[in-house]
Amino acid sequence: MADVRFLGVRIPELDLVDDEAERKALVKHALRRLHARPTLWLRMIVFFVLIIGFAVVMSITLRRWLPDPAFVGGVLGGVGGGGVMWLVGWTLREEARRIIREQLRARGVPICIRCGYDLRGSPTPKCPECGFDNPPV
Ligand SMILES: [Zn+2]
Repeated sequence: MADVRFLGVRIPELDLVDDEAERKALVKHALRRLHARPTLWLRMIVFFVLIIGFAVVMSITLRRWLPDPAFVGGVLGGVGGGGVMWLVGWTLREEARRIIREQLRARGVPICIRCGYDLRGSPTPKCPECGFDNPPV
């Protein structure tokens, strides 16, 4: 089974779909939906501003003990930039997973919308893993 990935990361929900073309269609749909969400871009800007703000505050605070501003700036820039990339990637992946779960449910695959638990064979739509009361498939 070929591994269909979303922006380079594995999406465990896709294991529930046997057909590779269908898995690709689900990922494509999730990407389209993500781009259409203004709140996602807003959150990325907020993350970015928070991390830059943190880096500025830390560099001002640490300058007293570390007299080399270029070194401090380089380290904080690296950590801050890495943090932004990680947060953005994590957010995108979580959003994509939720969209894919909704799509799977719409196609009749019983899966918990909140946590992704496989509800096949479960007598009720209530998730035994996280307790979320899913609407019936
Ligand atoms: Zn759940």
